[in-house]
Amino acid sequence: MSLFNTILVRTLPLAPRFVVWRVAKRYVAGPTLEDAVRTVRRLNELGAMATIDVLGEGVGEQETALGYVEEYNRVYDRIAEENLDSNVSIKPTMLMLGQDEMFCRDCLDILATKARELKNFLRIDMEDATTTDATLRTYWDLQEKHGCVGTVLQAYMRRTLDDISSLPEQGANIRLCKGIYIEARSIAWKGYETVRANFVIALEKLLRQGVYTAIATHDEYLVARATGLVESLGVPRDRYEFQMLLGVDEELRDILIEQGHRVRIYVPYGKDWYEYSIRRLRENPEIAGHVARAVLGLGGS
Ligand SMILES: Cc1cc2nc3c(=O)[nH]c(=O)nc-3n(C[C@H](O)[C@H](O)[C@H](O)COP(=O)(O)OP(=O)(O)OC[C@H]3O[C@@H](n4cnc5c(N)ncnc54)[C@H](O)[C@@H]3O)c2cc1C
Repeated sequence: MSLFNTILVRTLPLAPRFVVWRVAKRYVAGPTLEDAVRTVRRLNELGAMATIDVLGEGVGEQETALGYVEEYNRVYDRIAEENLDSNVSIKPTMLMLGQDEMFCRDCLDILATKARELKNFLRIDMEDATTTDATLRTYWDLQEKHGCVGTVLQAYMRRTLDDISSLPEQGANIRLCKGIYIEARSIAWKGYETVRANFVIALEKLLRQGVYTAIATHDEYLVARATGLVESLGVPRDRYEFQMLLGVDEELRDILIEQGHRVRIYVPYGKDWYEYSIRRLRENPEIAGHVARAVLGLGGS
């Protein structure tokens, strides 16, 4: 990371909220559900599907968690009312996974029931390694019950190939991404090229196993490998999709849509946009370059 980017990442939290918003608005739909609805409608018009994420994680109180369950219920209702092409993604620590696995499972059960009733879908995001086992247990349980639930596997985790082998034979739906948390080397691959290599191996394994796979990356190399794999394995277009984050590499998004691939955009919204934006910057300082251009009005990226 350049010195300029380092300084920027360190000083941005000191900036007024409107300056941070100037940067964040590219990556976050806005503070309200209506902001997300507007963003998804626009994406649908461009030929992209969406997955709506309510910002928040690491919740410690049941009352707060239940408030998020209500909010997600509203999300499902608005998707149905507006006839949007969108499902939802949720971070399980928002529902207290880690503190109370059964409570979290019950909350997700309410949302999976809603998703099934509305013929929609629930994606359980994967967080740091302390949550992997509980997330997979909850996913298998709810998917067996409802049939409209998916989760995420991270290519940087050494266990991922084993986790793919353990997926249920029928009906698994997995988003494959590199992984964003900082994990110990004892459990996670660290090299950039190593993670890429494991991503390709994991993707091929998922596709050969017949798992519906959401290929979540903006890495052009991986996108090229993925398009090559789906073609050589003869995977039908309705058995995989690409996924990207809102505001990241829209050119690549449009190229994939143009080529006839299904593309879904992750659309976060919520009152916690400020904390989310600052944390994403700290976690991925490379974004600082994009931020710098946005803040300074230099265009591009
Ligand atoms: C739809 C979706 C869902 C995800 N869900 C999870 C999850 O549940 N659990 C989890 O651990 N991780 C999740 N991630 C994050 C993922 O693990 C990676 O950290 C992230 O996607 C960056 O990896 P990359 O494959 O794009 O490759 P990178 O090599 O990191 O990025 C490739 C290029 O894309 C651009 N880029 C990437 N990310 C950003 C960004 N945020 N802002 C601006 N430019 C960017 C950069 O130009 C970079 O050079 C998700 C990612 C996506 C796209």
